[in-house]
Amino acid sequence: MSFWHTLADLLLPRHCAVCDAELCASEHALCNVCLCGLQQVPWTDMADNPLLRSLWNRHDVEAAGSSFFYNPATDVHHLFILLKYRQRPHVGLHLARHAFSRLSALGLARGAEYIVPVPLSRQRRWRRGYNQAEWIARGISQATGIPVCTEVLERIRNNPTQTHRTARQRMENTRGIFAVAPESPDLNGKTLLLVDDICTTGATLSDCVRALRQGFPTARIHIYTLGWAGGL
Ligand SMILES: [Zn+2]
Repeated sequence: MSFWHTLADLLLPRHCAVCDAELCASEHALCNVCLCGLQQVPWTDMADNPLLRSLWNRHDVEAAGSSFFYNPATDVHHLFILLKYRQRPHVGLHLARHAFSRLSALGLARGAEYIVPVPLSRQRRWRRGYNQAEWIARGISQATGIPVCTEVLERIRNNPTQTHRTARQRMENTRGIFAVAPESPDLNGKTLLLVDDICTTGATLSDCVRALRQGFPTARIHIYTLGWAGGL
């Protein structure tokens, strides 16, 4: 940690997003106690796990992984509220940078050449001021050195809220909402790591995979989400 960071901490102390304890220079967003207390998903197989099985086009995906088990009663839920609705995107960056090293060791990033965040609609991005998936992607990029490419996918229509919909309704609701952006580089033959904040039913990710497969038939696709809200 640089002298200037230490000085900044003295002048403007930073606090843990969960317990509000003052952070030391080596801690970011969360204190180490809270970070270690977050429930991780238990699976270690990147080629066969609940996240991968939630995708209707799973045969197009080589590997998938997630870090934290999302449950409304846990601190992970609180962190996602900060990340998505309280203007704290750096929470996603630091969490992803810390958590992804485990999945990287399990091979999720092996061979990946570009990180592709799931895009928000222009309207939602404008209202929020940032795309939380992009900040998670930046955290992974800092941990791995793999560049983030934000021009690959675009949301071509806005889907109504997914809340209170069944898995089947969510799937139908999200079909055809993503497409490869006209300005995207040609990613045929490349290995892509598609990144989103949380996976609930796999509907959004399935549609992104469909769009990527359509635009780049020979690309290899890996998937990472910071949170997993399905069953264990
Ligand atoms: Zn804490």
